[in-house]
Amino acid sequence: MDPKTVYLIAALMMLANGGVLGLMHGDLPHSLRPSAVSWRVSTLVHACGCLLFLVQDLAPRAVMLPLGNALFVLGFTGYWRALRQFYGAPDSPWIWLPAIAGGGGVFWYNLVQPDMAARVAVLTLTWLFILGACVWHLHSQKRRARASSRRVMTGLFVGVMVFMLLRLAYFLIAGVPPGYRVSDGAYWINVASPLVVAAIPVIGTTAFLLMCSERIRRQWERAASTDYLTGLANRRTLADTGERRFAAGGGFSEARPGMGVALVDIDHFKQVNDRYGHAIGDVALKQVAERLEAACRETELPARQGGEEFVVLFEAVDAAGARAAGERLRQAVAAQPFMAGELKLAITVSIGVAVRAPGDAGFDDLLRRADAALYAAKAAGRNRVECAALEIEGGIPNYREPVQHPTP
Ligand code: GH3
Ligand code: MG
Ligand code: MG
Repeated sequence: MDPKTVYLIAALMMLANGGVLGLMHGDLPHSLRPSAVSWRVSTLVHACGCLLFLVQDLAPRAVMLPLGNALFVLGFTGYWRALRQFYGAPDSPWIWLPAIAGGGGVFWYNLVQPDMAARVAVLTLTWLFILGACVWHLHSQKRRARASSRRVMTGLFVGVMVFMLLRLAYFLIAGVPPGYRVSDGAYWINVASPLVVAAIPVIGTTAFLLMCSERIRRQWERAASTDYLTGLANRRTLADTGERRFAAGGGFSEARPGMGVALVDIDHFKQVNDRYGHAIGDVALKQVAERLEAACRETELPARQGGEEFVVLFEAVDAAGARAAGERLRQAVAAQPFMAGELKLAITVSIGVAVRAPGDAGFDDLLRRADAALYAAKAAGRNRVECAALEIEGGIPNYREPVQHPTP
């Protein structure tokens, strides 16, 4: 195929992709828009580079070729910036330095000291540096973003880098033939180059949109599963996980410790709100959540059940283990006063723990028995841990009904 036709098709596809991204801009959340703008501008800059190659004979080639190459280098730097913005890296003017140095080198070896091999070498090294930076940035997000779209994007950049190296090797080994022109279709490399260069603006834009949709999906999932105020698992996650673990535990066995729960309730929290206001109450709630989370072991799941109540799931504990774990949580909260601005608040929690018992038909039964133990802890003076009986006789007391608390 004629390289000019390839440049034309590539430019049209890039323009179409940039246009589609522009149309979708309003649908993206605000946090993703700066990155999407950078990606779109880079795609359009690439399209301009392709168009310059297409019309290279209309102006002195010594100007058109380096200008086209400079646009590609700038476009790739724009993709680097877009990826940095996507993953929340601070914007830095330094990322443009390789493009400026490489672009300058290309102009130098075209206009001042014409040397085709040096020009190809400078251009390739600049591209490799920028693409390598993109790969490094994508790879560094491996733990945070496990999405396959990130892997596709990484593969795309690596593929283009490999082609760049092959292209450099081609020119170094075969040498640059006299009278060589980028638009000469007799060289396969001239047809392959625009095809490969178009891979990132065209296929990469699809991968970029998939990365965006993956990010949005995760944000929604996180919002639906975590508590807004404290960031702990919310009631829905607690119920799902609790029921799943209960079912996975199989039938009850005396010989094998099963799951356990701790129901944690802040003591006299209404007084904190009444005395210092709801805002301070919220700060205290967040700090209690932080301390509970910090005191939890890896297999334990802390959650906010609602209001000033938290639940911690234990994986495999007996009654003594659950009581010890509850005590660990209680001490983590009571150990030091809480700081809310200038205020120093002494906050304590009462905890009811329960371990899986033969009579439990589901996770709710476990929670109900922990609730009864919590009631006992409140009645016994607060700031203490009580362990639930294996079966509740005479129904479950409801400690939420007004009860006479001893004064603190
Ligand atoms: P007890 O020791 O018996 O648990 O007493 P308590 O005051 O902690 O319990 P009570 O159920 O009487 O009051 C709970 C209070 O928790 C009432 C409510 O204002 C407060 N609360 C619930 N959710 C929130 C919240 O999200 N933010 C704030 N600031 N307060 C909350
Ligand atoms: Mg309560
Ligand atoms: Mg309370």
